[in-house]
Amino acid sequence: MAIDSALDLARKIRRGELSVPEAVTETLANIDKCNDEINAFITVTDREHVLERAEFVQRQIDNGELDGSLLAGVPIAVKDNISVKDMPLTCGSRMLAGDLTNRFGTGQSDNIQINGSENDQAETKYMATYSSTAVERLEQAGAVVIGKTNMDEFGMGSTTETSVYGATKNPHDNTRVPGGSSGGSAAAVAAGMVPCALGSDTGGSIRQPAAYCGVTGLKPTYGAVSRYGLVAYGSSLEQIGPIAGNADDCAAIFQTISGWDPLDSTGRKKINNGTPHMNSIIKDKKSAGTEGITIGLPKGILSPFSEESVIDERISERILETAHRFEQMGVSIKEIDIGMAEYVVPAYYIIACAEASSNLSRFDGVKYGHRAVNYDDLHEMLRKSRTEGFGEEVRRRIRLGTFVLSEGYYDAYYKKACQVRRLIKNAYDKAFDQVDMILMPVTPTVAPKLGESLNDPLRMYQGDLFTIPANLTGLPAVSFPCGTIDTDGCELPVGAQLIGRAFSEEKQLALVRAFQRKTG
Ligand code: GLN
Repeated sequence: MAIDSALDLARKIRRGELSVPEAVTETLANIDKCNDEINAFITVTDREHVLERAEFVQRQIDNGELDGSLLAGVPIAVKDNISVKDMPLTCGSRMLAGDLTNRFGTGQSDNIQINGSENDQAETKYMATYSSTAVERLEQAGAVVIGKTNMDEFGMGSTTETSVYGATKNPHDNTRVPGGSSGGSAAAVAAGMVPCALGSDTGGSIRQPAAYCGVTGLKPTYGAVSRYGLVAYGSSLEQIGPIAGNADDCAAIFQTISGWDPLDSTGRKKINNGTPHMNSIIKDKKSAGTEGITIGLPKGILSPFSEESVIDERISERILETAHRFEQMGVSIKEIDIGMAEYVVPAYYIIACAEASSNLSRFDGVKYGHRAVNYDDLHEMLRKSRTEGFGEEVRRRIRLGTFVLSEGYYDAYYKKACQVRRLIKNAYDKAFDQVDMILMPVTPTVAPKLGESLNDPLRMYQGDLFTIPANLTGLPAVSFPCGTIDTDGCELPVGAQLIGRAFSEEKQLALVRAFQRKTG
């Protein structure tokens, strides 16, 4: 289903061709039509509540209070690990989902039961008590949060199958996964339910589902977007970022949500107090982007460098075609050798699991989360609550992370992984002495079938080899559709990715935008 892009929709609203309540009503109807099949949303904002908000934004627009805002009136979906005040925040986990007999909670007043009052089993769904900075900034700009999207439990996975709310389906072929962990956000955009969404990317969770679903996604420079209100998985790796139909929409959302925030100690004040300009994109400069740019194509990356990481050769073909297209647009392409590729996945999974084991310790049934009903003492209560509340993949990672941090193993695993991470960072810094941008695949294959990945976690981890470098190095990366591969009679999307120097999002998105204009 083709719907207006976020910027087109905002333009229509500005010109008075469409009111905000009309735009929101249309979006709710799109969700109604598709969500049963795709399962992209965990929560859809209560109709009455969201229309009230739409009318409020319309009044702000009419009064000229949102002049200059690019996203006034635009409905946006938000991944369910990002806080939106007074909405459920479940991270796709039994730990926070409360009583699962009422699957689709619809806002604050819905289904709230007090723990243990009438029915011991009926637990409250966790409701966010404040909004994340990213959401707050979007709302200040007049965007309307339309719902919370499905995800792998606590962001751990590559398929959106580990959610307690069931798998999300890929809109291009509903027997396949949408990718993960921001699979709900990518599928919601790809299915035309919403023009844009927020995701989070710890090891590829924005870019990989964007690639599998044929949409555009940006993982910002580490520190460019506040993580305040993002439920932490791997704190040193992750960023909130946009998923949308094209680079222009991503630029508008990124400009809105980025910038220094006193509530995130890892934020960076690098540019304009951390607020990057997207002017060359947003102001529609015709030629911005391609002149004088050199893109590096990593040597060997398009052929398998180890037995486990076999890349589909048709993906390599699409990437080479993309490089060729860029060349036709005046970009120089240069082969480079980054190296370190075989260390990327092991280093990431040690660091990510270590951070997760620490971050997830807060879910203990006391401060947060599900609490077991029958127990004899505190220790048993904690053990049972965490065993019942977390799914298998999350428990595996907590165990792994606890192991690599434990005395006697810390130096051999965690410390070593951090040293390797530094070497990977150095290798990328060196590459950027020669080129402005690096072009890579996002995934080694197209979207797998539902159920295919769950029994082989190692293989699933290996599939992250192209997305992880940007997280280990903190560099920005944008994933964009670059063609399709005919698979069992279905044209499945393929994603390409541009990795840039820190804070080069504007240049990156301008290149992608030029590519998208050229290729339609
Ligand atoms: N697939 C990766 C993982 O499971 C990335 C997840 C993410 O970026 N949140 O860790």
